Amino acid sequence: MNHDESRALYDRALSVIPGGVNSSVRATRPYPFFVERGDGAHVVDADGNRYLDYVMGYGPLLYGHDPPEPVRAAIQSYASEGPMYGAPTEIEVELAEFVARHVPSVEMTRFVNSGTEATVSAVRLARGHTGRDKIVVMQGGYHGAQESTLVEGGPDGTMPSSPGIPPSFAEHTIPVPFNDVAAIEDVFEAHGDEIAAVLTEPILGNTGIVHPVDGYHERLRELTEAHGALLIFDEVITGFRVGGLQCAQGKFGVTPDVTTFGKIVGGGFPVGAIGGRAEIIEEFTPSGEVFQSGTFSGHPVTMAAGYEYLNYAAENDVYDHVNRLAERLRRGITDILADRAPSYTVVGTDSMFKTVFTRRGAPVDGEALDSESAVCEAGCRQRESCAKYDHCPKTGADVGDAEVERWERIFWQEMKQRGIFLTANQFESQFVSYAHTDEDVEETLEAYKDVL
Ligand code: PMP
Repeated sequence: MNHDESRALYDRALSVIPGGVNSSVRATRPYPFFVERGDGAHVVDADGNRYLDYVMGYGPLLYGHDPPEPVRAAIQSYASEGPMYGAPTEIEVELAEFVARHVPSVEMTRFVNSGTEATVSAVRLARGHTGRDKIVVMQGGYHGAQESTLVEGGPDGTMPSSPGIPPSFAEHTIPVPFNDVAAIEDVFEAHGDEIAAVLTEPILGNTGIVHPVDGYHERLRELTEAHGALLIFDEVITGFRVGGLQCAQGKFGVTPDVTTFGKIVGGGFPVGAIGGRAEIIEEFTPSGEVFQSGTFSGHPVTMAAGYEYLNYAAENDVYDHVNRLAERLRRGITDILADRAPSYTVVGTDSMFKTVFTRRGAPVDGEALDSESAVCEAGCRQRESCAKYDHCPKTGADVGDAEVERWERIFWQEMKQRGIFLTANQFESQFVSYAHTDEDVEETLEAYKDVL
């Protein structure tokens, strides 16, 4: 593959954009390919190379790069008739109504412009609602580039994980290990009346895809309720992907007080949203006192794209298709791993999948791995339904010893060479879109087999 154009573009970018990219994860080594256009499940770079795309914009592109006709038509019409006004439009009401109809916990939604903005506003809302300062988060969770959650440490002390954040901010955040009931009980025992909210992804999606063990979210629900704290689900990744239109909360049957959304709900345009029970969401200004505002919030093009995206999914076999293909990928990769790399693990559910280059617990060399049981998906939330339960990751730390360099410097590069575009970070999920086909899955499995 020739990459001369991409290299030249990156060289130019390095002079005027820090690190040559506008989001850190894009700075793949030795330099990123620059995209010229998308085409269904593929992207084409500036040198004309085609890649089968499982990054899918890091999650928003449920339909790949050619959205269905109603989506395109809406985007074009809203873009040419505005594109925005600084006054409300009907389409934002329609999208809020759609979300309220489908997501169990949501009655009202405030739309913003990114997942980060959604979690920032949700944390402020929880603090305003409870009059308390502390936020409990999960180690290995991710909630965007925001001050309250960019922390390192544990229940006994935290530090900001980035320069530029005062240590006094981090003091208000308590990270706990995901799936560790005793740890969260201890935190509530010690700080119960200071905790404004527990903020967690229903499935950790930025740490190799870690599922909640049976009963964990239920316990979070009980503890927050008992102590007057809010339970916030960050469904920026899982929203309208895991569990279909009901989202992960519908799949798991747990009702948070507040949910943050992003990605899919904007149909490929910049978006975030904070939804929940009316009495809580109404505490945002202007109905309430917790300040919230934004020039671009509820942007008509975004709202129209999001609404048509979700509406199309409600009327077509979108989730069946993407989930079926992802399941084929997970099963297929599991078979390949059993043969070639039994110390690695396939994780994911619905249309999310990843191979983490490690395996939790005891070494598995020589241990027979049958493909029915090695996949760490929803079934592995219970010991009874997964023979490999002990080998599936349960916390962020469980994937901490993954062979990151081997993934990034060899596996990811070799897959790219074969025309398969995966997320370059070992821990970030990959996504199947409605544009992917069975033939794409076969091609992908061949490449995995070859490279592994
Ligand atoms: N929450 C989660 C769970 C995310 O995965 C992300 C980004 N991938 C965010 C929040 C932040 O969203 P954004 O990048 O749109 O600000």
